[in-house]
Amino acid sequence: MTYHTILENLKKTYIPADIKLFEKAYDFAKAAHAGQKRKSGDDYITHSLAVANYLGNHLHMDIDTLVAGLLHDVPEDTTVPLAEIKKTFGKEIAFMVEGITKLGKIKLRNQKDETYIETLRKMFFSMAADIRVVLIKLADRLHNLQTLSFLPPEKQERIARETLEVYAPIADRLGMGELKGELEDLSFIYAYPKEHEWLREQGEVRFEQMREYIERTKKTVQKELKEAGIKTNGIHGRAKHRYSLYQKLLRARYGRDINKIYDLVALRIITPTLENCYATLGVLHSKYKPLPGRIKDYIAFPKPNGYRSIHTTVFGPEGRIMEVQIRTPEMHSEAEYGIAAHWAYTERGKPDWGYKVPEQLEWVRELRDWQKDIGGNPDDFMEALHIDFFKNRIFIFTPRGDVKDLPEGATALDMAFAVHTGLGLHAQGAKINGKMGKLADELENGDVVEIIKAHQINVSRDWVNIAKTSSARSKIKSYLKDHSRGWGFLPEFRFMNRKK
Ligand code: MN
Repeated sequence: MTYHTILENLKKTYIPADIKLFEKAYDFAKAAHAGQKRKSGDDYITHSLAVANYLGNHLHMDIDTLVAGLLHDVPEDTTVPLAEIKKTFGKEIAFMVEGITKLGKIKLRNQKDETYIETLRKMFFSMAADIRVVLIKLADRLHNLQTLSFLPPEKQERIARETLEVYAPIADRLGMGELKGELEDLSFIYAYPKEHEWLREQGEVRFEQMREYIERTKKTVQKELKEAGIKTNGIHGRAKHRYSLYQKLLRARYGRDINKIYDLVALRIITPTLENCYATLGVLHSKYKPLPGRIKDYIAFPKPNGYRSIHTTVFGPEGRIMEVQIRTPEMHSEAEYGIAAHWAYTERGKPDWGYKVPEQLEWVRELRDWQKDIGGNPDDFMEALHIDFFKNRIFIFTPRGDVKDLPEGATALDMAFAVHTGLGLHAQGAKINGKMGKLADELENGDVVEIIKAHQINVSRDWVNIAKTSSARSKIKSYLKDHSRGWGFLPEFRFMNRKK
């Protein structure tokens, strides 16, 4: 898509002042990336523009997010520093661009452990410091996948796997079903090329047959609903995403048999009100016999990521089995765009801060719990979105890939106590990112720290000053106090031989 087309589309939604800012940012980014090419041979700016286009014309984010999208690769890949962005576009936008740059440094190491990957997702989130930054990063990843064919095979596989394990689950947590599906389907080709080909051979003809069937059925159902006096906002066929189909086929009950899958293409009915959803279900079940045990009321019981709809599987016209999904327009946009639907651009040019809090979003809830742990104010939702409470925290990995969050300025000694009290008391030195270091060394976000243990406990007075966290300091003080009283053994003794 050309710059001109993108701009024309934006003009349908955004106010003139915002369009002007967008143009300014485009010129700025274009000048900064001048002469740079993508692997595809395109000018680099086409990438920045694709990201901004997705954020604006698809997700309808606020203008600051679009501008940050245009500028997202400037500090990392050009000679124009962040300070220049701050001077030209202000603190808020510079802050977002900085966040994206930081996120670029998080890489999936060669670890398959689910706890590790889950931690990586959390770390990703906390380092973004603003949910909008996460959305920009997801849009960035989407375009990188769309142009992945130009990269060498090893890189393709790494990026695709990282997307399946880190990025797509994040989109899912944020309730962004459409984006999650796209990220997965694009990654599927590169992460599992043989499986992808197998599925294509198995499935494409059936997909086509089902699509045609749903097209025919659509008209019949539309008529039936109209006769029953039920309004609809639209009825359409919805093809299942390929990767989620593949995942489903792997489950034991399907045994890789595509004939057992009834929702290759589902019939999706959008109807104005919640009452209409149930009325629609009633009409359908009176005309078409439902398959027992397959009615799922995700309206009464939303999925953890906030997904709402009614699903049912019926013996449809021509005696074929089909899945039907029923929802309101509001549920539809939430299912497709997730958290971004709550953030949609309003005419004031600012996100609508007064929107309903999406309580049901699993990730938001988790963030709140975290915030509680760290001692923030869990009632302030905006604070949870901005993730300010993570601003002064750093994430440190153990060699096994476990992660501890510590305050900024924390030392290797703090890390030792955070892992295990016994380890703290026996600490002698530390390997930081594979290099020998001292217990007093200050750690940086993302460091991998291995604590070197001594046989003897050699806690000394100056450890109280080396440790920065209150928990480590209180453990050290308590040891020193008990020890100076000449007790034979320590209260911490019970920790020392405990297996973690
Ligand atoms: Mn990029």
